[in-house]
Amino acid sequence: MKIVMKFGGASVADGDKLRKVGTIVRKFHKEGHQLAVVTSAMYGVTDSLGDMAVHAGRGSKERVQNFIDSTLNAHRKAAESAIMDEAVLASTIKVIETRCEELRNILMGVAHIGELTPRSKDFVLGYGEKLSAPLLTGVLEDMSIKAKAFTGGEAGIVTDNRFGEATPLMNVTTLQVRQTLEPVMEEGTMPVVGGFVAATQDGVQTTLGRGGSDYTASIIGAALKADEVWVWKDVDGLMTANPKIVKSAKMIDTISFAEAMELAHFGAEVIHPKALECASRYGLTFRVKSLKAPDASGSIIVGEVKVKHGDVVKAITNINDVSLITVSGASMVGTPRLAAKVLQVLTDEEIDVLMISQSSSEESITLAIPKSAGSKAQNALELSLLGSKQVREVSMEDGLSIIAVVGAGMRGTPGVAARVFGTMAANKVNIRAIAQGSSELNISFIIRKEDAKKAVEALHDDFKLGV
Ligand code: ASP
Ligand code: MG
Repeated sequence: MKIVMKFGGASVADGDKLRKVGTIVRKFHKEGHQLAVVTSAMYGVTDSLGDMAVHAGRGSKERVQNFIDSTLNAHRKAAESAIMDEAVLASTIKVIETRCEELRNILMGVAHIGELTPRSKDFVLGYGEKLSAPLLTGVLEDMSIKAKAFTGGEAGIVTDNRFGEATPLMNVTTLQVRQTLEPVMEEGTMPVVGGFVAATQDGVQTTLGRGGSDYTASIIGAALKADEVWVWKDVDGLMTANPKIVKSAKMIDTISFAEAMELAHFGAEVIHPKALECASRYGLTFRVKSLKAPDASGSIIVGEVKVKHGDVVKAITNINDVSLITVSGASMVGTPRLAAKVLQVLTDEEIDVLMISQSSSEESITLAIPKSAGSKAQNALELSLLGSKQVREVSMEDGLSIIAVVGAGMRGTPGVAARVFGTMAANKVNIRAIAQGSSELNISFIIRKEDAKKAVEALHDDFKLGV
């Protein structure tokens, strides 16, 4: 099979873990599969690059120097503990040193100018993968696998120039990735592509948005027409509920992209929604594989899953620490522009809206947002709306959770909502707001955080997900 394998930041976090990744890759390589590897930056590196870029923008030159030293050390240490062969180690360290030197120059440049543009920020952010890909390549070579490192741009991924959240231009990308990687793979070399990073048509470095390495795996998988894309995780696969909350949570064998996307939006941070969307568009098959059990089949994500009779719900997820913002005022009735304004204010503040619900009387709009953004959202909305006469009050309440019941079998099956809310009533869980998308893949509602565990357990039980 032709397989694109993606390893996340946690799985390449140190020398031992890199070695473990190498063992997995070698196993499937030896079995005769044709592999392309995509790797994230080592755990935490992208975050620190982002922080450092901001410091550099404020002119802190000394911090830049310290940061480069510690970044170089961390990568060198990982290389030294994972690579045995001296020649391979020396050439890997050389690449790492060169890249760190480049990064030092860039950050010092930013510090001298004292200004961080979105373009230079993306340039800095991409260095996590520009370091981890050659590192993993060294580890694979040390295990006698012929491998070659690529940045996303070198591999042929071309995007627009929306720095920080660039979109791949799939036609050119497909062509170029094929032209670049196929000959390499045909002569028996395994490409190791740094995820998350890409480039514009003029070669300016861009990034695909945080968590974007999954997206890279989809893009490469689509271009190479891979049989499957495997995303390696610390967990067994996609689960029917968070196993920390529900003891009887089970692994889901097969799930559709649409369902997995609902899970991704609702707290089960398993695969980036953009990766799922891309995979679904190009007819790929995704598999979530467990690092702890490489031989287990994992969860498969495919385009359409036949809904088995009676199998209405696939999973129950929850997001804790949610705040509810309610914008109310009688004269909001019939003013669609106000809803747009509310969302615009939150967008401008970069606040993630998790759920929206408006009653048909249009007396109020209720929005769920992360608790950490609660006060900021309330202040911003008050500032821009209270003067408008249409709005009487912007209230905020925290200590809440969103529960989402997900499954394609709910579509057109009457009575699911009644069952969900019946179960909540039987458990004396009070429901504060409800939303259901017209795709009917998901019913979500807001309850008090103290009730979240009880609610998830009761629903998991009632829909018999653990058996
Ligand atoms: N390293 C990038 C990030 O932390 C991309 C990824 O890990 O998927 O966002
Ligand atoms: Mg990730």
